[in-house]
Amino acid sequence: MLEVNELHASIDDNDILKGINLSVSPGEIHAIMGPNGSGKSTLANVLAGHPSFTVTSGTATLNKDDLLSMLPEERARAGVFLCFQHPVEVPGVRLDHFMRAGYNAIKKSNGEDEIDVLKFDRMLNEKVKVVEMDRNLIKRAVNEGFSGGEKKRNEILQMAVYEPTLSILDEPDSGLDVDALRIVANGINQLHTPSNSILLVTHYQRILNYVVPDKVHVLINGRIVKSGGKDLAKQIEEQGYDWIEADIQARK
Ligand code: ADP
Ligand code: MG
Repeated sequence: MLEVNELHASIDDNDILKGINLSVSPGEIHAIMGPNGSGKSTLANVLAGHPSFTVTSGTATLNKDDLLSMLPEERARAGVFLCFQHPVEVPGVRLDHFMRAGYNAIKKSNGEDEIDVLKFDRMLNEKVKVVEMDRNLIKRAVNEGFSGGEKKRNEILQMAVYEPTLSILDEPDSGLDVDALRIVANGINQLHTPSNSILLVTHYQRILNYVVPDKVHVLINGRIVKSGGKDLAKQIEEQGYDWIEADIQARK
């Protein structure tokens, strides 16, 4: 589904991604772990098409289509979804209106009919259950005054509504207490199907106790320096990232 090959990217002339290789098949969950500042969010943003980053070389394809030549909205219509590490507040725009516009844009580009308000509201009432979200929140402005946990749940709610084929989740667990973490993780598990894939960016292993990855990659200084199964995440939980960095130094 997702094929990333020797991807290099920079921001303001600073090289951040230094040759990323990644291959994610349909139905797979891949965790991207790494210390702060290693380039995890950059990778997530570059794949979604954030305009601040410049891809300097390499390729990224989604179902063989060239992702990098697409505009962010084209990527979204092609089934890419980015869950933000820091969701932004959009005052004046109601969450349900916002999501209906996004949903209809995807439908339209698939040649399907737009959904009317009533039908959409009915659907939304089902989807909020996935993240046990208070229904009053969806009538409020996007993320405005939401707690940290509510913002993260809202990201997963959008994943539920848009039904992406590739979900890139940038630290959906950061700042959550155990209960909110369990709810977010349950939501992700409910939305995971044999045909969609998830790239789960996380600093900590704890969410991987709930959302079990097929593969775990360690990103350090813009490169994936180690890949393994879920045991690798356990090892990181126990030993941190230092041993991996020491390992790389020793091999130099
Ligand atoms: P992570 O998500 O793994 O914590 P990021 O992808 O956010 O890491 O950041 C990777 C590196 O890119 C960091 O060293 C960060 O300081 C740097 N970076 C991010 N944005 C900018 C920018 N606008 N200008 C210069 N460096 C940046
Ligand atoms: Mg980050």
